[in-house]
Amino acid sequence: MSSKPIRDICDIDAVVEGRARLSPTQAIELYRHASIHDLGAWSTAAADRMHGNLVRTYVIDRNVNYTNVCSAKCTFCAFRRDDGEADAYVLSKDELKQKIGELAAIGGTQVLLQGGMHPDLPIAFYEDMLGWLGEEFPQIHLHAFSPPEFVEFAAVFELEGFPAPGAKKAGDMPREVFVEKLRVIMKRLRDAGLKSLPGGGGEILVEHVRRRIGSTKATGEQWLDVMRVAHELGMFTSSTMMFGHIEGVADRVMHMAMIREAQDAAMREQLPGRYVSFISWPFQPDNTPLGRAAQFDIEAGQPFAGDALADAVFAGAVDPEDRAACKAAAPEAGREVRLAGATEYLRMQALSRLFFDNIHSIGASWVTMGPKIGQLGLSFGANDMGSVMMEENVVSAAGTTYCLNEAEICRLIRDAGYTPTQRDNTYDFIKVHESTGPDLEVTDWSAHRPATSAFAQPDSENKVELTISEAVEY
Ligand code: SF4
Repeated sequence: MSSKPIRDICDIDAVVEGRARLSPTQAIELYRHASIHDLGAWSTAAADRMHGNLVRTYVIDRNVNYTNVCSAKCTFCAFRRDDGEADAYVLSKDELKQKIGELAAIGGTQVLLQGGMHPDLPIAFYEDMLGWLGEEFPQIHLHAFSPPEFVEFAAVFELEGFPAPGAKKAGDMPREVFVEKLRVIMKRLRDAGLKSLPGGGGEILVEHVRRRIGSTKATGEQWLDVMRVAHELGMFTSSTMMFGHIEGVADRVMHMAMIREAQDAAMREQLPGRYVSFISWPFQPDNTPLGRAAQFDIEAGQPFAGDALADAVFAGAVDPEDRAACKAAAPEAGREVRLAGATEYLRMQALSRLFFDNIHSIGASWVTMGPKIGQLGLSFGANDMGSVMMEENVVSAAGTTYCLNEAEICRLIRDAGYTPTQRDNTYDFIKVHESTGPDLEVTDWSAHRPATSAFAQPDSENKVELTISEAVEY
């Protein structure tokens, strides 16, 4: 980090006070030149302006991965299985009932349902699952299916009025057909009980990065199209970013700018749905093919090739769709990962709060960063601690597992200087724990230490070799 005066980059007071919008160029400069302390102070001031300085929120929900069978092969994933593998599964109704029953028993309000992108389940399976869950648990909000799953749905569902699925790739159909099919599917699932969409699968929306990390399950354009249709149909969605791999800083800012522009359009056109939140986290490398790529040595003082390519794309000098031009601009880009630790995470999250003047909530990512760093996130622009974690399968498969119950999450919020407050999916308050709270009922904290079981399985049978495939190589 060098020390360009902040006043030469932007009027930071105006940004913090909501009188000016940070441009993408300013955001990149700010990230490169501002100290972590300043980013923390500015983003906290911005969060206080938007949310007050008394209350910070959490939600009680449960991640339920209804299947781990997945047709995609993301290089950063350790969760997926092929159909027929010994530990491949699709949850039965009895298993769903048990999991969501446990959630309801602790006062949960929401379930996050996400797969694998199962190539063989028909739309009737999903309609039946949603309808049945709605009848069994009418009090539980069904937050389900991230954009890549919808892309898969559009590719594999047989629907009247649309060509029969052939090559099984949504990208093989014209965009207008894809969007129309998406609209039909989403309406049917909404009518069956779907209430809102999670923002998973965003990773980095810029195409040259997606190609290289094997995130071909949904292009950046398709990811945004899914969310746009959800907003048109009146559903709220979240948005996400997974960084700290091959991308440059400018790629992260371009990713955020794509979401901010989409939100601008939704607001301008007064669509009934919106993005309500943004959450970012560093890539977790264990047990993933991408994690076995060479690691960039920050200490060596050399420039990171991912930054060179990102800067060229950002400047408009290289078309991110043009593989040859990308390769010529930065031949080494994509061959090394620059992992992000706590400092990078906090800086990035703070920047996101300053950048997103049109998104309500910034969530702290304690699931990947651990409870203490997640708590620190409340001093770096986050207003929400996310969910009490009863179950997590995807990130834990990549080597990071943290679980917090309601008392623990409340204590983290209270110890950070705020009143813990349970919210619902739309960020309305359910319960403000002013002088009471689950944490204040705990007399012995020795049994409440958050479980931390980061692990590595170098000899795991599930190990997948990193291959430079067509999707990865320019
Ligand atoms: S990240 Fe999701 S879509 Fe990609 S391989 Fe894993 S389960 Fe499939």
